[in-house]
Amino acid sequence: MLDTLVARYAYPRARVCVLCGRNCYRFLPYRGQGHASLPSMIAAIGIVGSNLDQFECPWCGCHDRERHVFMYLVSAGILADLTGKTVVHFAPEPHLLKCILKAAPASYTPCDLLPSAAGIQRVDMLSMPFADASVDLLIANHVLEHVSSYQLALAEVLRVLKPGGSAIIQTPFSGGLERTWEDPGIVSDIARLQAYGQEDHARLFGRDIFREFASSGLVPLVKTHRESLPEFSGSRFGVNEDEPFFLYTKAQLQEGD
Ligand SMILES: [Zn+2]
Repeated sequence: MLDTLVARYAYPRARVCVLCGRNCYRFLPYRGQGHASLPSMIAAIGIVGSNLDQFECPWCGCHDRERHVFMYLVSAGILADLTGKTVVHFAPEPHLLKCILKAAPASYTPCDLLPSAAGIQRVDMLSMPFADASVDLLIANHVLEHVSSYQLALAEVLRVLKPGGSAIIQTPFSGGLERTWEDPGIVSDIARLQAYGQEDHARLFGRDIFREFASSGLVPLVKTHRESLPEFSGSRFGVNEDEPFFLYTKAQLQEGD
């Protein structure tokens, strides 16, 4: 509680939460420890994901990855262009959910494999109940490191997207790893924490993540923070500047298809 009060009221209150609009002295660290909570191997190879040291807004409780994807959606003009669109949102973050509803899409389906709140539909990303080419925007923010097969999940994303539709698939990865690694023998919480960085992760993506994602057939429109949000400092807005915008699209049909 003291940490929260300090984070809210200490000076200078130079940081800004883009989701609640409030200023703060700092964002709260992940699990109270931030970067220090990472297992030593994960810390040694480095991981591009959340900003663990500036993680949670002391006012509204939103996490850095929710702020970042919101900023990316605004900068790409996607949020302003949702009127009449069909949106599917996996593991829906509560603040982002409200922003999307405000943008008046024709249809909005918040979904999760294990819904934690009323109104969230139970959907397996590996077998979605949506028709082919029926979705304009699909958001799965930090989901693909949890699913049992990211290849199947990406094939489903490609299937349900309309040609020209967008998929936002933010995923943590280690630039220090040449190849994504997972092993079916790593199943216990402690083993997954040590091997992949979190108890419920099924793999640790390496720097081949971009090649892997593109091999699904989705067309990458990935941008860096600097390209998308050049005027927004990561420390002021509590986001990880190393986390790129994982924006993908489905190619428009070619003549003769
Ligand atoms: Zn906030």
